[in-house]
Amino acid sequence: DLVPVRRALLSVSDKTGLVDLARVLADRGVELLSTGGTAQALRDAGLPVRDVAEVTAFPEMLDGRVKTLHPVVHGGLLARRDLDEHRAALDTHGIGTIDLLVVNLYPFEATVAKGADYATCIENIDIGGPAMLRSAAKNHAFVTVLTDVADYAPLLAELEANDGATSPGFRKAAALTAFSRTAAYDAAVSAWMAGALAEATPRRRAFAGELAQPLRYGENPHQAAAFYRDGSSRPGVATARQLQGKELSYNNINDTDAAFELVAEFAPDAGPACAIIKHANPCGVAHGASLAEAYRAAYDCDRTSAFGGIVALNQTLDAETAAAIAEIFTEVVIAPDVTDEAAAIFAGKKNLRLLVTGGLPDPAVSALAWRQVAGGFLVQSRDNGRLDPGALKVVTKRAPTDVELADLAFAWTVAKHVKSNAIVYARAGATVGIGAGQMSRVDSTRIAARKAEDMATALGLATVPTIGSCVASDAFFPFPDGLLAAAAAGATAVIQPGGSMRDAEVIAAADEAGLAMVFTGMRHFRH
Ligand code: 5GP
Repeated sequence: DLVPVRRALLSVSDKTGLVDLARVLADRGVELLSTGGTAQALRDAGLPVRDVAEVTAFPEMLDGRVKTLHPVVHGGLLARRDLDEHRAALDTHGIGTIDLLVVNLYPFEATVAKGADYATCIENIDIGGPAMLRSAAKNHAFVTVLTDVADYAPLLAELEANDGATSPGFRKAAALTAFSRTAAYDAAVSAWMAGALAEATPRRRAFAGELAQPLRYGENPHQAAAFYRDGSSRPGVATARQLQGKELSYNNINDTDAAFELVAEFAPDAGPACAIIKHANPCGVAHGASLAEAYRAAYDCDRTSAFGGIVALNQTLDAETAAAIAEIFTEVVIAPDVTDEAAAIFAGKKNLRLLVTGGLPDPAVSALAWRQVAGGFLVQSRDNGRLDPGALKVVTKRAPTDVELADLAFAWTVAKHVKSNAIVYARAGATVGIGAGQMSRVDSTRIAARKAEDMATALGLATVPTIGSCVASDAFFPFPDGLLAAAAAGATAVIQPGGSMRDAEVIAAADEAGLAMVFTGMRHFRH
């Protein structure tokens, strides 16, 4: 049934659009009630408004911790208008119904994101706001609830269309938004507390996000999809600004995330780096004297796969790099920033999506990662393990040279971002062969080497680039066969976690083949 809006309670921290909304409501003859700051803003705009404190006959108190937590407010929101008992109770206690609630909450997430201290975060946990949102949302049979500034205009359109009333469908959708908001808000508080309490193991925290955008479809066209944000301020695909190009797809977002997290391993002050991703796996990663060189070297690892790929850069996208990228079809480019010249080059490529993040995320930061299984989800701390060159153990007769060590470290860091079983060959700061996602390690080793051979043929190289390369394995070689396959491809040095029952056999095989090998003591499975 249509419910006319006669009385509204407005209590908002974010006062954007407040006065415009309130003016239309006042013009429609809606009585306005408000809390301190909101009422002041309305009065300043010359609008008629009653203080909630006057209506409840209780002052706002305890630094605003108690403003609207009162039966006069919650009775007015929760009463069923179709029950005589409810109406009689309102009459007995002199409570007027509230037909419209407009509340946005204390900016808890933004306060946390700013790095505020514990006490400040605590003060920014809104209590009365969520309570009112939940009361109004529960009673959506009669009450309209708004918590998103973006929903003000649709409300005014609804009132216009229904002569000052709202329809059940509108109120129900609004209630869902309100419950989603309070759930996400409490999840943010829970996540912050779990972090603030420095829980060693992730437990008893809630997970929720806020709808960032509906997506056209999911991994496949017959799957529905949406993108949610978890409120993290980490630079990346969820917080990036899209400067041009079509809307991001589900696969774009997934792959762009993989690309940017990988390139963020390479600190900008250690030199330009580029990662090209296909299906969440890198098909080329490289350092370079310039960003354009890094891009070209990454591209040369696997030109076939780079077509239609996602490019991530660890420095500001410049004109030379943009021109090189624009030579082939690329889905997405993500970088901390872009120069005007580079942006101008991309402007001609209407479909190319360009994202800027304002910075690189810290790869060492601890956070949680989760993935769904049937009936639940798994939670773990994100893989922020980083190579400690001092902790490397040389296990072969020959120790790696400094040049080999640099390429071993590079290959290892890339391998962390390749689906297991991961094998990465690198030479001169660039990957030259990547084997991803195989069920056997020896297959990954062979596939990576074969791809390098294919590229050598395609590029007309005199030698296959795995010859004289360094190879990383994300987990130990369970048998010597994988290691021997890498030696056969021409690798001279190996980095792997070690820890197999057959380490002695694998080390003996390495010595026999004249390889240098180091153990990291850390595994980087990625499934
Ligand atoms: P104002 O700027 O109007 O003084 O305050 C608006 C904010 O107060 C809104 O974000 C609203 O959610 C919040 N709020 C309303 N009632 C209460 C309450 O009883 N306790 C707390 N802690 N916050 C409230």
